[in-house]
Amino acid sequence: MNDLLPPDSAKWNHVEHVARQVFESFGYREIRTPIVEYTPLFVRSIGEATDVVEKEMYTFTDRDESSITMRPEGTAGAVRALLEHGVLQKQPVTRWYYSGPMFRRERAQKGRYRQFYQMGVEAYGVAEPTIDAEQVAMLHALYLRLGITGLDVIVNSVGGPDDRPAYREALVAYFTPHRAELCPDCQRRLERNPLRILDCKVAGCRALVAGAPSILDHLSPASLAQFAGFRAALEALGVPHQVDARLVRGLDYYTGPIFELKATGGDLGAQNTLGAGGRYDRLVEELGGPPTPAVGFAFGVERVVLTMPQPAEAYEQGAEIFVVAQGDAPRLYALRLGHQLRGDGYRVDLDHRGGTFKSQFKRADKSGAKVVLVIGDAELTSGQIMVKDMATGEQRPVPAAEATATLVKLLR
Ligand code: AMP
Repeated sequence: MNDLLPPDSAKWNHVEHVARQVFESFGYREIRTPIVEYTPLFVRSIGEATDVVEKEMYTFTDRDESSITMRPEGTAGAVRALLEHGVLQKQPVTRWYYSGPMFRRERAQKGRYRQFYQMGVEAYGVAEPTIDAEQVAMLHALYLRLGITGLDVIVNSVGGPDDRPAYREALVAYFTPHRAELCPDCQRRLERNPLRILDCKVAGCRALVAGAPSILDHLSPASLAQFAGFRAALEALGVPHQVDARLVRGLDYYTGPIFELKATGGDLGAQNTLGAGGRYDRLVEELGGPPTPAVGFAFGVERVVLTMPQPAEAYEQGAEIFVVAQGDAPRLYALRLGHQLRGDGYRVDLDHRGGTFKSQFKRADKSGAKVVLVIGDAELTSGQIMVKDMATGEQRPVPAAEATATLVKLLR
């Protein structure tokens, strides 16, 4: 779990700001749900036999003996809120986004943390896979706007409830003769959730997975058509993508097309999946709602920040104006002037510790301000402010009443 300090916080703010703009331009609106939910919500939605539920959740017994869990992801809470507030009755197509911390007790490493931040979107009530493709294009566009260019879009379909049993059987038939070569986790997965083996990172399992049957050979005609529609829409949107028939996600609720956006550059290593999501048409119903098609994604803010080429300092907005003052009356005047200018919308700094003009100018220089205002006893008496343009070094007295107009010109 990390502390976030300046200048990094400026880079984070930029990501969150641009993401909000992009999501809202596609008609998504913000929700905020609690950080904790009752544990069964996550067990039922993410799936009992997933790593997240089996070993990564922060689960506590509350004082009333109920079991609560710090959210490991955002979709379950969103669906809970959707149903609790009867949103679909009023709004059959609902598009939401969220932003906030998630908690998974994973093995921490670069790009993987126990408290991490996700921003994500969910769209409810649309079965057409064009909206899935639109979400991929939206995430792709967001990354481009953040300066991330090296991106791979990987897609697959995990099929619906009609396809899954046959594929499950095919996987069991394939892996069972190799049981002894599987890692202990995958030996367990073979019985409980064989699809999860496809996601195992252990070398021995990966070698076996390479020869495993492909889900795409087990999809029903309807699922195949849905996947083809998804890909055609991606093409129409100009999003280049690759199919990886071995792609699965760590959460069980997906039912159709799924996708991952990976960084090709940078040094995130195996943690290079910047964002991922897919269709989950059964979840709303499984959590007690009406049958409702749904699709969404989430991206990890830390990974995106680590992949953006510009350093954090580039996102910091320093002061535009620095006010330098010496003497008791000038310092109070400067205090008031700074306050007024901030009211006018400028970013203004001054040094409350005072000191000589020389030392204050040094700090003004360091602050990066474009303009320095100088106020001393002489300036106060003459009713003028010395305005210094830091770019040119030019310095001239300006009547206090005209100071703002001069600033507008200098800072434009
Ligand atoms: P998921 O919710 O597992 O589908 O993950 C979606 C995205 O969240 C991933 O692609 C990562 O960018 C990010 N993410 C997931 N788990 C972590 C973690 N432990 N630390 C940092 N980012 C994560």
